[in-house]
Amino acid sequence: MIVLRPHHLLCTFAYRGKGYSPAFVANFDHYLAQLHEPGAEITLQQTNDVFCQACPQQASATHCQTEQHIQTLDSAVLATFGLETGLVYRYQDVQDHLLATMTPEKFRHCCQTCSWYEFGICEPIWCSQSQQATPVKS
Ligand code: SF4
Ligand code: SF4
Repeated sequence: MIVLRPHHLLCTFAYRGKGYSPAFVANFDHYLAQLHEPGAEITLQQTNDVFCQACPQQASATHCQTEQHIQTLDSAVLATFGLETGLVYRYQDVQDHLLATMTPEKFRHCCQTCSWYEFGICEPIWCSQSQQATPVKS
């Protein structure tokens, strides 16, 4: 079971090997490989997660240096895609659900205040995808 901040559901799909530091990237690669294992399960929480633990912007075990802003990203992803904290999901089921229901408007609503948004990497990756809708299992 891997604990994730909700907005990291978007980051993990858009990730292309760039991050805050070499240690952050190495840690990201490690846990992303675990998420991609068949049947990998996750639970969502609005506190620091496995990716935050190697981030230079982590303020404490539970908080980001910009925690208030990060909370808005997490809350937007939960509300936009009908997800809940504390439930057990299969990572791939959630990714399929996000891919099937993503729109440019939804992406911008969730991500446009992120510092990485302006680089223009993530939006084309998310918004060029098109799949049949699949239900989210818990
Ligand atoms: S714009 Fe930011 S929050 Fe959105 S997927 Fe990219 S890195 Fe993650
Ligand atoms: S910037 Fe904050 S929320 Fe993002 S990975 Fe780093 S500690 Fe976590």
